[in-house]
Amino acid sequence: MLEQSELARIRNIGIMAHIDAGKTTTTERMLFYTGKVHRIGEVDKGTATMDWMSQEQERGITITSAATVCFWKGSSINIIDTPGHVDFTVEVERSLRVLDGAIGIFCAVAGVQPQSETVWRQADRYGVPRIAYINKMDRIGADAERAVRMIKERLGSNAVPIQLPLGSEDSFAGLIDLIAMKAYVYEDSTGETYRERELLENERAKAQHYREILLEALSEYDDNLMEKYLEGSRISAEEIKRSLRKQTIANHLVPVLYGSSFKNKGVQMLLDAVIDYLPSPADIPPVSGIDTGTGQATTRRADVNEPLCALAFKIAADPYVGKLTYFRIYSGRLQTGSYVLNSVKGQKERVSKLLKMHANHREEIAEALAGDIVAGVGFKDTGTGETLCSEEYGVILEPMDFPEPVIDVAIEAK
Ligand code: GDP
Repeated sequence: MLEQSELARIRNIGIMAHIDAGKTTTTERMLFYTGKVHRIGEVDKGTATMDWMSQEQERGITITSAATVCFWKGSSINIIDTPGHVDFTVEVERSLRVLDGAIGIFCAVAGVQPQSETVWRQADRYGVPRIAYINKMDRIGADAERAVRMIKERLGSNAVPIQLPLGSEDSFAGLIDLIAMKAYVYEDSTGETYRERELLENERAKAQHYREILLEALSEYDDNLMEKYLEGSRISAEEIKRSLRKQTIANHLVPVLYGSSFKNKGVQMLLDAVIDYLPSPADIPPVSGIDTGTGQATTRRADVNEPLCALAFKIAADPYVGKLTYFRIYSGRLQTGSYVLNSVKGQKERVSKLLKMHANHREEIAEALAGDIVAGVGFKDTGTGETLCSEEYGVILEPMDFPEPVIDVAIEAK
């Protein structure tokens, strides 16, 4: 069916960062570029955006709900709110449970900081594929290589740059794409537009070196690529991208990108990387649970034609509609006006409204499908972590909160 093929065009992602690394700024820029954040006023393009954003920041408003949808190059990206502070460990676990991939944001000056380390390890535990984004390349003291080294060494990750920054600090002017072997140079300091150009001679040698490191990392898992690499045959950008997508999802290779969200640099390429390298719901393993009829273990896979199975992960009070219940649909479909079974409580719930939350508006939808994340109105007695399913095919998904506290940082500090 047509809808099943649409699964490949969904990305459910979280954005993880130490406080101050730039999560808010990066998220806002992503929402801006995906066209869902509208400027106020008719002032000229760049400044109006900036004014709007600083106003929002001054008032401390966070524009993301528990899940905010945006669209990029034909795919829809659900950004699931992932708290950056260690105090919200349980909240982090909840969002990790429903997302399929994540962006880890690091500060180019500070590198890996304690809280990014905590969340990163939580994501390791859930086997969440990730890309790393080294932000604040424009700041004094920015050190891209050191940040990558820290991501590898302190986080024990297989991080591999897929870009090289062109300049740093005040002169951070663009990025070299190591896959396409092209340079992307920002036209002016606002970073709104960039142009593609061929690599200069000195850039080419350095890029070649880093491209080989990328190819070596990919070859470890990819025999075809390994053969071509050893033979010295030409390897196309498409082949590298395909292999990188596979390795990021299956073997947790971590593609590294750079940028300065504040200066609008690197964010559009980061969005491309979300689509190119992070998994869709079709790429992740089935979820496990218990069949309430037989008491036996069972699984649900991302298929719109299977019975409904969803997980409530966040209950929020909403000024317009009262209680909003956010859930991830793992299999099947759900229509407005229908009844679902809360299999944990053994109670039926009626879905009076289904909403997609955009950055600046909410959209009522008639139906939600496997793979998607939506908010429901009308649920009376469904709590976080509870399973919603079809009445005929009852299932209870594995409980989601980890009982043990996360104390990695404290232990390692000793
Ligand atoms: P969060 O705590 O991770 O959400 O971080 P914010 O997005 O609120 O950013 C923290 C501070 O760093 C703010 O003052 C931002 O303006 C600033 N900031 C964010 N990204 C950049 C960047 O790329 N370059 C510079 N120089 N500052 C940035």
